[in-house]
Amino acid sequence: MALETDLNRIARLAAARHDEFEVLRYTVELLEDELSDAALDALVDALAAPILAAVDCTRCANCCRSLDVYLTPEDVARLADGLAIPTAEAAARYVDHEAAEAAGEWGKLRAKPCAFLRDMRCSIYPHRPESCRTYPALTPDFRWTLPDILEGAGGCPIIYHVLDALIQRLDSPL
Ligand code: SF4
Ligand code: SF4
Repeated sequence: MALETDLNRIARLAAARHDEFEVLRYTVELLEDELSDAALDALVDALAAPILAAVDCTRCANCCRSLDVYLTPEDVARLADGLAIPTAEAAARYVDHEAAEAAGEWGKLRAKPCAFLRDMRCSIYPHRPESCRTYPALTPDFRWTLPDILEGAGGCPIIYHVLDALIQRLDSPL
């Protein structure tokens, strides 16, 4: 499966399809009776599987370079463990509480691009924050998190292609 992964082209494609993506948002809300949340999540997971297999995140790393990474105390404890430093030291070095507060979060990684990104790979992969593990977080609750997912369509080839695949699938009878 050959998919477009050039980030400039993905950004242009997503911008050009903004209205189409908004229609998708309304459509999945309207289909709530015909397509339950669980059924929609299952459909999205099925559509995403080949896309996740085809897109090599180690050749992209755009989320690690451009997104805010919000943290929980558990994330910082795991990070400290991975770095073999005290939790208080990890918190002092890497966590910005003030910036996180504005977004109603407990903490946020200080650096953007992420300080742990090395040669397009996560240097703390086994100890990475929970939000990094779940990104792009298509499911569960695709229907209700779609507005947030749509915001990432221009910066993440996986999101873009899953939305594209879902639009095509919903154009056919369910
Ligand atoms: S999750 Fe999306 S933005 Fe992040 S590296 Fe993979 S394709 Fe790129
Ligand atoms: S911690 Fe790792 S996965 Fe998370 S943003 Fe940084 S480099 Fe990416």
